Amino acid sequence: MTTPRTMRLPCWTCDAEQRHRQLNKAEQDWLKERLGRTGVNEFWLCENVLDTDTGKQCRNLRTGFVMKPFPKAVRVPVPE
Ligand SMILES: [Zn+2]
Repeated sequence: MTTPRTMRLPCWTCDAEQRHRQLNKAEQDWLKERLGRTGVNEFWLCENVLDTDTGKQCRNLRTGFVMKPFPKAVRVPVPE
């Protein structure tokens, strides 16, 4: 598997520029289901660590062009 590409982009829930990465296969499948769409390639996931003790990440989504593509934050769940 190739290393996902990353990009520094502003995240509206973190209110700052953060590192984002493209979704992996499982996350893409989740998002397709969630949105009822067949293509989700434009989405990037915020990797900002919100809790340094647990390593919990923001995981809020944005697209390359739109910082807030949904009315509310859509965060990709952490796989079990
Ligand atoms: Zn964020």
